[in-house]
Amino acid sequence: MSLISLDPALWDYVIVHELLHFSVPNHGRLWKALMRAHLGDWEAAEQRLQHVTALQSTGEFGSAPCHTKALKTHKQGLMQQLFPSPQEPRP
Ligand SMILES: [Zn+2]
Repeated sequence: MSLISLDPALWDYVIVHELLHFSVPNHGRLWKALMRAHLGDWEAAEQRLQHVTALQSTGEFGSAPCHTKALKTHKQGLMQQLFPSPQEPRP
């Protein structure tokens, strides 16, 4: 599964979600307030995304979609596209 296969309406959720983690490392009140400021009804997008990724989530890291394996893969690709970094070590 790639980010492209997601509903485009969910891209904003994934992007904003991960970008906010640069300044807010958790899903606390501040993070939720910023999500609402940027996306409005972000909970609806999250529920749809959890449904999409439910089959791939082991659940061992909790229900936060960014902690599923699928979303971590999205995040890595997304961050490389948004912030290409020549200093980043390559495997
Ligand atoms: Zn998160």
